[in-house]
Amino acid sequence: ATLPYDPDNIFARILRDEIPSKRVYEDDFAIAFHDINPQAPQHILVIPRGAYVSWDDFSARGSDAEIAGFVRAVGAVARQAGMVEPGYRLLANVGVDGGQEVPHLHVHVFAGRRLGAMLP
Ligand code: 5GP
Repeated sequence: ATLPYDPDNIFARILRDEIPSKRVYEDDFAIAFHDINPQAPQHILVIPRGAYVSWDDFSARGSDAEIAGFVRAVGAVARQAGMVEPGYRLLANVGVDGGQEVPHLHVHVFAGRRLGAMLP
C-alpha cells in the first residue's frame, strides 16, 4: 500500500525550516541533518528536496537529475563527515513492513562504531 505524499510530514517541515534540525549538508538536491534519536555515534538522515514518499516513489518518479543528485549527496555527506575510511552503513526503510515511520524518503547514514551484522 503506497501512501500519498503528506506535505506536512515532519521532514517536509524540516526542509521548509518550520522545525529546527541540526543540518550538516545541503545542496540543490538534498539536505542532511542529525537524527533526533541516534542509533550510532554518528547518525545522519539524508533527504531529497523533492516530495517523494519513499525509495519506491523516488525511483519510479524522480528525474534522472534528482536521482543522480541525491546519490551524490549521500556520498558527499559521508565523505564530509569523515566516515569513508572507518566505514559506514546506509539504510532506507520502505513502507509498513520496512519500518518506515516518516513518509518522506530518507536514507540513514550510520557510523562511529563497529556496526554489527544487521540482517534482515
Ligand atoms: P524511519 O523509521 O522512518 O526509517 O526513520 C525515521 C527517523 O526519523 C528515526 O530514526 C527518527 O529518530 C527520526 N526522526 C523522527 N522525527 C524527527 C525529528 O523531528 N527530527 C529529526 N532530526 N529526526 C527525527
